[in-house]
Amino acid sequence: MDLAQLTSDLEALRARAIAAAAAAPDTAALDALDVEVLGKKGGITAILRSIGALPPEDRPRLGAVGNEVRAAVEAAISAARARLSASELAARLAAEAVDVTTPGRPVRRGSLHPIMETAREIADVFAQFGFVVYEGPEVEDDVTNFQMLNIPPDHPARDLWDTLYLDLEGRLLRTHTSPGQIRVMHQEQPPIRALLPGRCFRYEAVDASHASEFFQVEGLMVDEGTSMADLKGLLDQFAHAMFGADRPTRFRPGYYPFTEPSVAFDILCVICNGEKCPACSRTGWMTILGAGMVHPVVLRYGGIDPERYQGFAFGMGVERIANLRHHVVDLRQYMEDDLRFLGAFR
Ligand SMILES: [Zn+2]
Repeated sequence: MDLAQLTSDLEALRARAIAAAAAAPDTAALDALDVEVLGKKGGITAILRSIGALPPEDRPRLGAVGNEVRAAVEAAISAARARLSASELAARLAAEAVDVTTPGRPVRRGSLHPIMETAREIADVFAQFGFVVYEGPEVEDDVTNFQMLNIPPDHPARDLWDTLYLDLEGRLLRTHTSPGQIRVMHQEQPPIRALLPGRCFRYEAVDASHASEFFQVEGLMVDEGTSMADLKGLLDQFAHAMFGADRPTRFRPGYYPFTEPSVAFDILCVICNGEKCPACSRTGWMTILGAGMVHPVVLRYGGIDPERYQGFAFGMGVERIANLRHHVVDLRQYMEDDLRFLGAFR
């Protein structure tokens, strides 16, 4: 071993290492080259191990060459690593790129239940005439649900409502939203324009046109000089908003214990336009709500002087309105939570 031989070995190793760094296909190959040439058990260290066999004056020279070769190989690997890292990053970016023009997966959106949606539409119409929404309790007492509405315990009109009583003290599930009229009158002074939406309950056998649970919207207006003409005008506006501006309407005599006079409010049949079809029982007309002037007895129960104030009230089944607007024929569909049915109203 002499200095020239060892120097030549180091130079040869440098040339091989620099060529290998330039030809490395990826950074993993550079890692391996680093260990093989520069590592503790690598090529440079192996050559320098012979340094002890040289005369003392040659040892620093070989050490200097070794350092020079080490630095050159490190620089070559470092340069190659920079180049390969950039192209590997570019390749990864290309492989993992997101195509923002690809159509997305559709998101299923929820919607209001058709009954809730219809109740809101009804409230929106009356809101334009200053009616404010109030809520009454679903559990009522016999006094408010019946007696204060001019339906005493022995009144034959009680047969109109098949009541679900909760206890012997007369607590019951409200059979209509009308007791809300009494509650609003106890709470407010005239002028009153109140809208009372809510769920009602009756002891009914359920079929396509009967439900034991249903939704009503009740309206109450109390003021000085309130008349049937005001009632008719308001209900016409409502019918036109819900069923078309040219939809003919009519009042028919009706009966409710809490209004006098009482009327049924009809619109021309939305199916046959008056040609008389099964949907309108061949009358050409469809009843959409009941109404009338508030009975003076009811006003008095509400704490309002019937000599000074008059009022009108109306009540409608929201299912009925929704049926006519959406041509639904079976009430049970509203309760069955079938998304195919409910989604059809979006
Ligand atoms: Zn008809």
